[in-house]
Amino acid sequence: MFQIHRQRRWVLPMLAALLAAGAGASYGYRQARDVADPPPEACDVSYQTDEEATTSVDQEPGSDEYRDLTPEEERVIVHKGTEMPFTGEYDDHFEAGIYTCRRCGAMLYRSADKFRAGCGWPAFDDEIRGAVRRVPDADGMRTEIVCAHCGGHLGHVFLGERLTPKDTRHCVNSISMLFVPEGEARYGTAYFAGGCFWGVEYWLERAPGVLSVVSGYMQGHVDNPCYEEVCRQDTGHAESVKVLYDPVRTNFEALAKLFFEIHDPTQVNRQGPDVGHSYRSGVYTVDEDQARVAQSLVAQLRKMGLDVATEVEPAKTFWPAEDYHQDYYQRKGSQPYCHMRRPIDWPQTPQD
Ligand SMILES: [Zn+2]
Repeated sequence: MFQIHRQRRWVLPMLAALLAAGAGASYGYRQARDVADPPPEACDVSYQTDEEATTSVDQEPGSDEYRDLTPEEERVIVHKGTEMPFTGEYDDHFEAGIYTCRRCGAMLYRSADKFRAGCGWPAFDDEIRGAVRRVPDADGMRTEIVCAHCGGHLGHVFLGERLTPKDTRHCVNSISMLFVPEGEARYGTAYFAGGCFWGVEYWLERAPGVLSVVSGYMQGHVDNPCYEEVCRQDTGHAESVKVLYDPVRTNFEALAKLFFEIHDPTQVNRQGPDVGHSYRSGVYTVDEDQARVAQSLVAQLRKMGLDVATEVEPAKTFWPAEDYHQDYYQRKGSQPYCHMRRPIDWPQTPQD
């Protein structure tokens, strides 16, 4: 992060900050967060309520719709410069929310993972899964971190300082980020049913741009059903997942395509060994754009000769399943028994 040769006037304060950062191990555990707090789970994000998820927010993933940068932003983000320590907007900033890439808008860090490192730059001990890429720094010693979506320079990552239980410090320039307060972040939401929700959740959680996946029940006629009720097959619910995603890094179409690749949409009221109406295939849409995309993908599969049984319906209330159903395979350390990915050769352009 230090550009000593380019910015000689910054040498002394930066060296002072480097020494402070290097002495971080003596600070002990984080100061901003209670050390008794358990480390945040990978999917520990706040998300829209179903009532808020009334429209999709998709844009083209991989688009070059970048924000115009000021000369100082460009110096850091494009030319890998460094802002002065203890001067950045977010160095002493601990509101609840999401830190996004200042150039492309991708979600990078959660405020829950921010801690006081005393180094003069914002510090995080975890990133949003897949949002930050690590590359060897040109200095041959450190590890640079860049936005995985646009490649913009963020700072450096340091391991082994023992500052937090995760033993990781993302040292990020404030000017590389834009903070979005909780409640103002624009998440994308999608709902899918494809048999046992353990396997559907497993695959979708690994998709680029996915922030969290919750297993639950929907499309039934009983409020707040429990697993045993749904298994009796008389509440009308389908085992479903609620997917929360970053609309900068992915979109509904990419997720829906993956959904069709990880289950067999031709099976009626079953998926593999799981038999019953609650194991049916469904895409439950939050707006007309999602419905159009889902119907288009079903039509494409039918053109390929598949007798698709997937229902496409407006989403009704999503009821989260019991805790023991969440992150099932992650906790068990095992692989799905009835879901595997079979890539589909989709046409280049969706056909309506
Ligand atoms: Zn970016």
